[in-house]
Amino acid sequence: MSCIFCKIIQKDIPAHVVHESDSTISFLDIHPCTKGHTVVIPKTHLSSIEDAGEHVLSTLLSGVQETVAILRKVLSPDAFSIGWNNGEEAGQVVPHLHVHILPRWKGDGGGSMHSIVQKDSVGTIEELAALF
Ligand code: 5GP
Ligand code: ZN
Repeated sequence: MSCIFCKIIQKDIPAHVVHESDSTISFLDIHPCTKGHTVVIPKTHLSSIEDAGEHVLSTLLSGVQETVAILRKVLSPDAFSIGWNNGEEAGQVVPHLHVHILPRWKGDGGGSMHSIVQKDSVGTIEELAALF
């Protein structure tokens, strides 16, 4: 298995583990965007949320919640940005589903989900709604 996150699960390469359960492991990101930037991964190898079953989804979200509680206790941030890059074009580099948790502080200069991308040629909301 060449996946770097599977190697972390197998303890073949080291990581600073923040939380671990039967189904997930959370560890400090090696290139942190903020103090305490942590990634939460399922112990099953899959790359996209589209491939995840109910058990992976529910345990992953529980892992995120438990990790947030630990980060809250240790670092006392004001808030958290939580999300993931789903697919290469969205910025996913490691092809093993992982949720980023970024502790945030008032005035830290960071943006919101709306700052990831802004395009003005997306059509009207009515045109889009007609597709569904
Ligand atoms: P992606 O861009 O795929 O959403 O995020 C992958 C993240 O994993 C990056 O933030 C990167 O810094 C982190 N990362 C990549 N390799 C390692 C590693 O070997 N150890 C740790 N702790 N983090 C890693
Ligand atoms: Zn993997």
